[in-house]
Amino acid sequence: MKADVNTLTHLFWDYNKKYFGNVLPTPYIELFDMPGKIARFEYHKNGNKAKKPIRDQIIYFSKTYEFNENTMRDVMVHEMIHYYIAWNRIKDNGSHGRKFWRMAMDFNEKYGLNIQILLGTPLPDKPPCFFNKILGFVTRWYGSHTTTCKDEEYKVTRSQSNKVTK
Ligand SMILES: [Zn+2]
Repeated sequence: MKADVNTLTHLFWDYNKKYFGNVLPTPYIELFDMPGKIARFEYHKNGNKAKKPIRDQIIYFSKTYEFNENTMRDVMVHEMIHYYIAWNRIKDNGSHGRKFWRMAMDFNEKYGLNIQILLGTPLPDKPPCFFNKILGFVTRWYGSHTTTCKDEEYKVTRSQSNKVTK
């Protein structure tokens, strides 16, 4: 199914309640058409003393990508983790740094989600264990996964890294 603003807004409200303690103000939600990009979170930073840490937050979703219910959920929660990190002024080492990964992995384990970083080339049912490994996360999921995983499937190529969704 194609993304539409009405559905996305309701998903945002739903996941905000379920996964983020309902702390995130409703952002602008817009469709975009950028080759290789499935979704994106954008915002402007306010100064350190400002009451609100960021403004003009927008979650973009591809208008052409064929989502299913799970990918739409996983991609939305992925973008909302970016939002949560920015909203709470959490410092991370990179846009998909350790804090981001910790949250994504926690959600994957706790709620059975499949949040990934390499969303340009979705690997259904194949979690990004390559990143998991280089970032040094060991999770329950990862332990059982290593018994069936062939590492080379997950190595990031240049063409894939162009498609990393922010
Ligand atoms: Zn991202």
